[in-house]
Amino acid sequence: MQTADLELVKLTKRYGDTLAVDAIDRRIPGGTYVCLLGPSGCGKSSTLRMIAGHEFASDGAILLDNRDVTHLAPAKRGTAMMFQNYALFPHLSVVDNVAFSLKMKGVAAPERRKQAAEMLELVDMTAFLDRMPEQLSGGQQQRVALARALITRPQVLLLDEPLSALDPFLRIRMRAELRRLQRELGITFLHVTHGQDEALALADEIIVMNAAKIEQAGPPRDVFNTPRTAFVARFIGGHNVITLPDGPISLRSDALRLTAPGSARLSGKVTGVEFQGMHVAVSALMPGDMEITALVPEAAFFSAPKAPGEAIGLDWADSDAHRLEA
Ligand code: ADP
Ligand code: MG
Repeated sequence: MQTADLELVKLTKRYGDTLAVDAIDRRIPGGTYVCLLGPSGCGKSSTLRMIAGHEFASDGAILLDNRDVTHLAPAKRGTAMMFQNYALFPHLSVVDNVAFSLKMKGVAAPERRKQAAEMLELVDMTAFLDRMPEQLSGGQQQRVALARALITRPQVLLLDEPLSALDPFLRIRMRAELRRLQRELGITFLHVTHGQDEALALADEIIVMNAAKIEQAGPPRDVFNTPRTAFVARFIGGHNVITLPDGPISLRSDALRLTAPGSARLSGKVTGVEFQGMHVAVSALMPGDMEITALVPEAAFFSAPKAPGEAIGLDWADSDAHRLEA
């Protein structure tokens, strides 16, 4: 399978009066694991469906490998979409489900079985070739759906919230598998999610969308450590947005120190204490109704425990504060 750059140029989607995707621009190098991250309704699925060709672009262009694919049929683009398990044909065996698109292309039966078996091996489903979809667990059905998308040899695989139907344990296992598979194939995966932990764990590049626009894009560590706006700081998690006289800053929760009230830059009252294993999350209400959470290493917390209602101070090193665009 080849790698190819994917380029979105002023890509726009309107549904009547709703502007779902507002002139987004981004070039994604071939072979990248990209997570499109944002809250519900921000335009992620619309973007993905336009790239797949399941939705017309209202404006702008989609280039794959420098070829304008904006108006091509889905099968002619070099993209494939991994659908949720319900899209498996219930009356076809696993191997026939995966081979289906080859059958449509007129590939002979022995050859399509061979290629389907190869794809199923890739997703660790060799033992289930002749099962029917109803005889598979949810996770297994998803592997079949994955093999079925990959058999078209796409340059870009599109995945819309592929892990959301799985239980938390399976979700974490499947996400590691997706990452392994993408490395092995060397193609671009464009994975839509509203979970920041999923995006941080998987992506080479995170594209954060908010209200139809790209709010920030970059490697996970950059987006996490230097959020551009208060929206990104809040959405990516683990940060506090603090408004100071000279503008808003973000501070990672683990960069805050609990001190005696009065001696610190901020003083307030503890509102909640949550034991999280390695850390204790202490939330506190500061002047101006500012709710702040500090993550304190558990040993440090229990050497000077705090309880709800107690007055505390919160301080930080200047180098840990990160200025946000107002
Ligand atoms: P996300 O996947 O980020 O949740 P969507 O791309 O599904 O967001 O939706 C973006 C916006 O477009 C939302 O306001 C949604 O209600 C609207 N929308 C999505 N699909 C349609 C459609 N087929 N017809 C009309 N409005 C739509
Ligand atoms: Mg969606």
